Amino acid sequence: MSSNKSYLEVQEEKESNARSYPRRFPFVIEKAAGMMIHDVDGKEFYDCLSGAGTLALGHNHPVVIEAIEEVLKKQTPLHTLDLATPLKIEFMEEIFSILPKELRNKAKIQFCGPTGADGIEAAIKLVKNATKGKSILAFQGGYHGSTQATMSMSGNLGKKQHLQSLLPDVHFLPFPYEFRCPFGIGGEKTAEISARYIENLLDDCESGIASPCGMIFETVQGEGGAIPANIEWLKEMRRITEERGIPLIIDEVQTGIGRTGEMFSFEHAGIIPDVIVCSKAIGGSLPMSVVIYKEELDQWNAGAHIGTFRGNQLGMATGLATLKYIKENKVLENVKARSRQFFKRLHALKETYDVIGDVRGRGLMIGIEIVNPAARKDALGHYPAYEEMAKTIQERCFSNGLIVEVGGRHSAVMRFLPPLIMTEEQTEAVLAIFEQSIAEAVQ
Ligand code: PMP
Repeated sequence: MSSNKSYLEVQEEKESNARSYPRRFPFVIEKAAGMMIHDVDGKEFYDCLSGAGTLALGHNHPVVIEAIEEVLKKQTPLHTLDLATPLKIEFMEEIFSILPKELRNKAKIQFCGPTGADGIEAAIKLVKNATKGKSILAFQGGYHGSTQATMSMSGNLGKKQHLQSLLPDVHFLPFPYEFRCPFGIGGEKTAEISARYIENLLDDCESGIASPCGMIFETVQGEGGAIPANIEWLKEMRRITEERGIPLIIDEVQTGIGRTGEMFSFEHAGIIPDVIVCSKAIGGSLPMSVVIYKEELDQWNAGAHIGTFRGNQLGMATGLATLKYIKENKVLENVKARSRQFFKRLHALKETYDVIGDVRGRGLMIGIEIVNPAARKDALGHYPAYEEMAKTIQERCFSNGLIVEVGGRHSAVMRFLPPLIMTEEQTEAVLAIFEQSIAEAVQ
């Protein structure tokens, strides 16, 4: 057995029907380095999925591999529950060093289970405990994980319609999605109206939302379709929650650790959240999640949030190596430069191809919404989402050697999440394949 075909037959026969990525990327990975993946048939791919945004430094970066080797050499225990090791302390200090200075000496960190969802669950427990509030303010189109509680707070209903036991008391508020404005307005006004609507709803607590324990959102919705929240809106959410004493939880699982061009995405708005949830890139390729929060929220009892896998030393070593590398190698500057390069070319492509309805994002979290120019325009003057075309473009990209994910409410947004260290030449190569693939798809 050695070909994609023969391995995939086994996968299809044995693995759950819930498997997702293999349906879109039917290959078997033999090895990977940087942003390149090689399959068992010897074909090479540019990886713009990066483990769903996890691989800040791409695959198997030398500093990551070295960090793992070091742990093994030093006989650091691989598993420690939440007991201390010198490595854990160093990792913690490194995380604190990247926090905005307003938080640096006033924050606490909670190590959680290995997934982003674990971190979100812990954050909700933390604020529920501290505020004694019950209801959660979440957003349409948001995504926070696949456990029962995190799904309850995730906005795109499709996937969970069949589940009966989701958390009650979740209120979905309108996210400032300018292209598909929920109020039929569009553009920057979307954010203004969303903020006013939310403020009124909270003012009218009797009929609106009583005793919220927290508000949670991503500053750029990832799975929701690379939708960046307007900066003024972010500031408004901070003001509105602050005035009402509602803890603001920012889900930095996908946006965090440099992805948007700042270490934390909320820094673009100059705001300080009460709670930050990190996962994905903070583990430097390995499973890790942490919640960082203002110390006044630290009101839970010893053992209030436990979990066996909170001491993954390999993940701490790779996370530490990744944070240091980002700091020492001007990676954030590269994110900004590559982002400009992407947007320049993608905006030009939008002029050429009428299936490109919207180009958006922040840093290296980029979305291209594919639309159907043969259909009727909506009230905002935009064509409807075109899922089949997005799928065809994705298939063309894949056969041309480019891995790019599709997401969004209607599965019509091409989502680029490349490694933060991709080079100018790699960016050109990726964009050339993308353009060729669109040209082939619309033929
Ligand atoms: N929050 C956000 C913003 C995410 O993008 C994801 C994963 N895509 C999660 C939470 C959940 O993370 P995990 O899949 O590791 O549970």
